[in-house]
Amino acid sequence: RQGVVVITGASSGLGLAAAKALAETGKWHVVMACRDFLKTAKAAKGAGMAEGSYTIMHLDLASLDSVRQFVDNFRRAGMPLDSLVCNAAIYRPTARTPTFTADGYEMSVGVNHLGHFLLARLLLDDLQKSDYPSRRLIILGSITGNTNTLAGNIPPKAGLGDLRGLAGGLRGQNGSAMIDGSESFDGAKAYKDSKICNMLTMQELHRRYHEETGITFASLYPGCIATTGLFREHIPLFRLLFPPFQKFITKGFVSEAESGKRLAQVVSDPSLTKSGVYWSWNKDSASFENQLSQEASDPEKARKLWEISEKLVGLA
Ligand code: NDP
Repeated sequence: RQGVVVITGASSGLGLAAAKALAETGKWHVVMACRDFLKTAKAAKGAGMAEGSYTIMHLDLASLDSVRQFVDNFRRAGMPLDSLVCNAAIYRPTARTPTFTADGYEMSVGVNHLGHFLLARLLLDDLQKSDYPSRRLIILGSITGNTNTLAGNIPPKAGLGDLRGLAGGLRGQNGSAMIDGSESFDGAKAYKDSKICNMLTMQELHRRYHEETGITFASLYPGCIATTGLFREHIPLFRLLFPPFQKFITKGFVSEAESGKRLAQVVSDPSLTKSGVYWSWNKDSASFENQLSQEASDPEKARKLWEISEKLVGLA
């Protein structure tokens, strides 16, 4: 039978490109889990995705109620779940004041990490029930959360500290909106921190569930897709210069189509079944197991992050 893959944030950029790449194989039905139904419908049509090869379902990761509702709707639709891709993200690089999710958590960490944390935890049951030969749960990482690389060392550097801000609920008022508890808000750092959370969560899922369930847990850095909507809030000069900078100087640039193929590989390639891996691609577009920074692979921090996140999303 066809596999069923849920991709969050499939309305643009990498998520859309991967949705298209998977649907085109004919082997996958793609559930596009998105906050803007109309935008997603237009995007899927615009990308030339064949009718019937995808289903759009509403999911706003900035609301934990919406996450729970999505899971209910998905289950009611009666489809199996064979692969889940936690791809959606927001990036507010120039923000100096926080914004908040429906549940009152700082937006970057609330959407990129907490919303996905709840979604992944709830849908684990569904993945477990699937009879698909290779079931996978994939969470997008980023080089920016990787302080062992050049790009990961561009300030402000990611750093979760002792997670005191997260434990305090990332509320901002009378507390901190930053995971490490800093008083001042930095949107660029909040994004990088959220990506570290994504990579730590993938590894903790692997430690807790891989042996018992056989599910493959993986993360990836798809390359720098400098043209996506992710950079929409950046200053205009940055948006103008970033793509050529990545193309010609760092040579880390990848097109949306190429990045979509990479993510599709992590979903479906029979050779990428190893669990607990952070995939990257070399200059010849060959995948390899990449090393994570010390913080992004710290098991003690991953455990602590897991426990605090469970409380914040109402699972503990
Ligand atoms: P885009 O901005 O193009 O796509 C982000 C997607 O997330 C959009 O579909 C957006 O929906 C969705 N989204 C944002 N907020 C929410 C929300 N509250 N609920 C549901 N969906 C939401 O970015 P990219 O394609 O570049 O990024 C995709 C992933 O790739 C991210 O995880 C990012 O961290 C990662 N990544 C990107 C890199 C790059 O160079 N671009 C490099 C490394 C990693 P909407 O269309 O409605 O805004």
